[in-house]
Amino acid sequence: MEMEIIFLGTGPAERIPRLGHNDPTCLDAHQTGSRSRRRRSSALIVQGNTRLLFDCGPDIIEQAAIAKLNKAPDAIFLTHGHSDAVGGIADVHKIWNQPVKIFADAKTIKHTQNRFLINPRENILWTRLIPGKPVVIKGLKITPLRVDHAFDERITTLGFKIQERLAYISDTRALPITASRALEGVTTLVIDGTQISQLIPTHLTAEAAIKIGKELGVGQIILTQIGHEYPPYKIAAKKISALAKKLAAPKTILAYDGLTVRL
Ligand SMILES: [Zn+2]
Ligand SMILES: [Zn+2]
Repeated sequence: MEMEIIFLGTGPAERIPRLGHNDPTCLDAHQTGSRSRRRRSSALIVQGNTRLLFDCGPDIIEQAAIAKLNKAPDAIFLTHGHSDAVGGIADVHKIWNQPVKIFADAKTIKHTQNRFLINPRENILWTRLIPGKPVVIKGLKITPLRVDHAFDERITTLGFKIQERLAYISDTRALPITASRALEGVTTLVIDGTQISQLIPTHLTAEAAIKIGKELGVGQIILTQIGHEYPPYKIAAKKISALAKKLAAPKTILAYDGLTVRL
């Protein structure tokens, strides 16, 4: 059965454009319909009438409105407890006015409940995920996988395999061998491509992300969590295509808010 992924946000911890900036990326991001405009990273997976939301950052109300997400999704999966991934969690049961089901690992649940919610049980049903152990939501199989990202010991991070087809790994600096093994056979890899050149400790560069996709042997790579260091979208997309070609890697797409990919 056909499935699609809709990118509700593809940006870094701080959305783009940034207040008071006059650099080419932020100027471009102010244009109507610009692909340089990036909300906090989040994605919706749709199959038939099943809808799963991955991450719920501070832009969720705006993202839900744009995606016409008028009812709560069937489940919300959280990658980790950083504010750009979970900072909208207090809004979800209010905007949809119905209970929401949230799936996350133990540390993410604890951190989110402590930091982002006044009443953690109000209209939220929590399910603890164990890395490597799949859950099935209305016929869709989701396997959480441990990935390396933050150095803060209160934060652990998950990537997700959806069915056997798709991987969604929005925040990572490296994939442990267990994750790589579990992703064998996946055809589309959505992965952290935060930096276009400059190295930072907690995220990947586009080149490192593309190399991971090549090693996994996927059919296509989609970069998300795109940082402010990238040039305006049109220039950046060309650079990413050229880089993938140079690395003899699979087709690589630079994601943008609103991108929908059928799988
Ligand atoms: Zn800027
Ligand atoms: Zn993070």
